Amino acid sequence: MTNTDDSPSRMPAVFLGHGSPTNALEDNACTRAWHEIAESIPKPRAILSISAHWYTRGTGVTAMERPRTIHDFGAGLPAPLFQLQYPAPGDPSLAHRIQALVRQTEVVLDTSWGLDHGTWSVLLKAYPEADIPVVQLSIDATRAGDWHFRLGRELRPLRDEGVLILGTGNVVHNLGIMEWNDRAQPYDWAMRFNDYVKSAILEDTPERLFDPLAVGRDGQLSVPSPDHYLPLLYVLGARHDDDGVRIHPEHIVFKSLSMMSFVLDRAA
Ligand code: ZN
Repeated sequence: MTNTDDSPSRMPAVFLGHGSPTNALEDNACTRAWHEIAESIPKPRAILSISAHWYTRGTGVTAMERPRTIHDFGAGLPAPLFQLQYPAPGDPSLAHRIQALVRQTEVVLDTSWGLDHGTWSVLLKAYPEADIPVVQLSIDATRAGDWHFRLGRELRPLRDEGVLILGTGNVVHNLGIMEWNDRAQPYDWAMRFNDYVKSAILEDTPERLFDPLAVGRDGQLSVPSPDHYLPLLYVLGARHDDDGVRIHPEHIVFKSLSMMSFVLDRAA
């Protein structure tokens, strides 16, 4: 496949801050933003989702025709959340394409996972028709940040094949000291780290983001575990030099949960 620089067919790469699974039941500023992002970009042929909630040893890609909707959250959440389904088809041929494309690790074809709520809670809002094939790539928990970034770079050619690369996690994600209060002011360290990440995205200095713990206390509190942070590095790895950036929303809810989302797109 060839593409010239002015080819209109390159898909953007998108990171969505998914927050609480209950967003799937709500209509709020974030869920509307996810829908607006989908409306603002060409309709993808398929979606490759890198979700915080498939955090594994090794790298897998879902390869089934009909991925199930996984309700991977605690029983304390509202009952209607457990009824939601996202019946998008899978795309086994895309899974094979990814397996062949990636060189730095073995990608295992998986037939047991499906779509976890990191994927479906945002896609339910972005693409409610569920008519676009979706595959998920798992995040290898044994690898460092720069490794994930390089894997994103290996996946980048998919953008020229009609595939939307989607990272779904949260830039700041500290549930242990979160407060379920819509009006609470975010923690100072959360705001500082959120701004730090934002500036590194805008200035295209991804190496500043490879190790959030090296940023110091702000990073350590914002990223107490890497799972929700790492999808960001895949999206930045899939960036092209001529991509523009649109960041929206970027606010923090419940004091320590960043809803920052962004689009990398030549047309941005
Ligand atoms: Zn999550």
